[in-house]
Amino acid sequence: MKKSIIFIGIALIALSACQPKKQAFDYTVDKFYDLEILRYQVPEFDSLSLQQKTLVYHLTEAALHGRDILFDQNGRYNLRIRRALEALYTQYKGDKKSEEFVNFEKYLKRVWFANGIHHHYASDKFQPEFSQEWFVNACAEAGVTYDEAILPVIFDPTVMPKSLSLEGEDLLLASANNYYEGVTQAEAEAYYEAHKDNSAEPLWVGLNSKLVKENGQVVERVYKVGGMYSAALEKVVEHLEKALPFAENEQQRLVIEKMIEFNKTGDLRAFNEYCIAWVKDLDSRVDYVNGFTETYADPLGITGTWESLVNFKDMRATHRCQTISDNAQWFEDNSPTDKKYKKEEVKGVSAKVITAAILAGDCYPATPIGINLPNANWIRKDYGSKSVTIDNITHAYNEAAKGNGFNEEFMISPEVIAMYEKAGACGDLHTDLHECVGHGSGKLMPGVTKDALKEHASTIEEARADLLGLYYMADPKLVELGLLEDEEAYKGFYYQQMMNGLMTQLVRIEPGKDIEESHMRNRQLIALWVFKNAKNNEVEMIERDGKHYLLINDYEGIRRLYGELLREIQRITSEGDYPAAKAMVEEYAVKVDQDLHKEILERYEKLNLAPYKGFVNPVYTAHYDAEGNITDVTIDYSEGYIEQHLRYSRDYSFLPDVN
Ligand code: ZN
Repeated sequence: MKKSIIFIGIALIALSACQPKKQAFDYTVDKFYDLEILRYQVPEFDSLSLQQKTLVYHLTEAALHGRDILFDQNGRYNLRIRRALEALYTQYKGDKKSEEFVNFEKYLKRVWFANGIHHHYASDKFQPEFSQEWFVNACAEAGVTYDEAILPVIFDPTVMPKSLSLEGEDLLLASANNYYEGVTQAEAEAYYEAHKDNSAEPLWVGLNSKLVKENGQVVERVYKVGGMYSAALEKVVEHLEKALPFAENEQQRLVIEKMIEFNKTGDLRAFNEYCIAWVKDLDSRVDYVNGFTETYADPLGITGTWESLVNFKDMRATHRCQTISDNAQWFEDNSPTDKKYKKEEVKGVSAKVITAAILAGDCYPATPIGINLPNANWIRKDYGSKSVTIDNITHAYNEAAKGNGFNEEFMISPEVIAMYEKAGACGDLHTDLHECVGHGSGKLMPGVTKDALKEHASTIEEARADLLGLYYMADPKLVELGLLEDEEAYKGFYYQQMMNGLMTQLVRIEPGKDIEESHMRNRQLIALWVFKNAKNNEVEMIERDGKHYLLINDYEGIRRLYGELLREIQRITSEGDYPAAKAMVEEYAVKVDQDLHKEILERYEKLNLAPYKGFVNPVYTAHYDAEGNITDVTIDYSEGYIEQHLRYSRDYSFLPDVN
């Protein structure tokens, strides 16, 4: 008896000694100009098997080795510039507190963020806030050498002013990015036209190449081992080959093999085979994207920008969605819609929530919160596509936003803020209801087609899925199913949804503009409809010191109104009632209250929040046994923004200055 007590006592001491007091995870890393750097957690990494961790590790290495490719695609001087800046940064001899050096550091941080010298979103060239003279002298003092050609590219605002221009007589000449060189737009278009593949399973000609002129002829320089970007792609292939033995199943093995083949040969047939194999791989927990993918940066929309994302299925979200899907019929039967519009037999869909393990190339530092691939329409039509949301990234955005003053500015009272903070899980749960049963619920009347609501179809459809989720957020069924702990949790969430739809989402709209995007339209539609149809003072807008605030008096009443609107939106959908859809959208979804908008923008601007956000990655360390086998992979979150980029430039940079 006594022995075991001592034993427990020692165990407890040992535990508390080796586990430092649990600290809240710090989501924010850095902030400069219009950019904020965050970090994200990779929950459930430890739940992966050693095989899966090893696979993730090799895929993250393959991902990081593509970094230089993106810098060069974004501009042909970018690698030379980045290397000169980093050399000066690390070898600088002067006063690091001087204004020039501080501005120089901010410029370098910006270049890292944009993977080049142009803004990642606006495309405009950064204007350094230090002089050319200072830079030249500082380099001389530090013994840093560089190609003189970079000076006007950095300092002269008229040289390469935009990375991507969609205006001008010749878009290729107007765009500084590096998908074409010495080729006019007309020549490039003629080339693509002549080489277009019109077969049933067309090759994406131009996806993986730069168009240049050799001996007066337009030719493709293909991105492949032995071709353009060979030194980086060799490394990518090396790590994909290391990943191969750890594939979870035959289908995933095929996915990796095809990507290796594509990188080695540049053969677009292999790329198509890779895409098809990837779409079919639904069973693996670990998944990845690695290669020339999105084509937004090419003025002609042909060539893919290099990106990589390594991820794995979020089992908690998968389980959540499974629970909802298993009860899909209950949600259908108990919704406030008219019985004749209900499905007799409804099927939920499976989860599509993933956890990002690494962001790279065009997904880093700025990243999407979801992906939907492949891009080839014929593959999507014949084989389907994968559409996923990246939960841990969204979570990091939300957590970082806490305490930034936003809720304090726009929510009416500390009580409401506290209520909203308690609503935590509701956001994810609402998304699950929207995705897993919302879109799949209800049926169309005979003869009604999916496109009956024409240009308003997507706003109405998003509203329908959102409303189903909103209505059920307040249902005790969710507590009964173990999806929610607190029956009152929905209240804070309702407040936030109403506030967002009526007021705060307007921060993303320019003054004087209407709402265009269908998700934003749907949110205003719902909130404004409820607001205008709240006849019993369920919700009101009050003014305090010239500022407007939302006051909700009756949360159950809001739920009733959501239910009423869902009933009508389902009717519109089921009947294909286009005039009603049009009237609904025009009255509630599009127009913005100009005075309120102006006020919201002013209040938002005073908060001084960065409009663009990006991330640092966690650091993965592989541990090996004497034979060189990986015995464990550990994860660390402590790396800073500058450290990370300097390390990436040191360890993952293999391309020459000029490619
Ligand atoms: Zn949706």
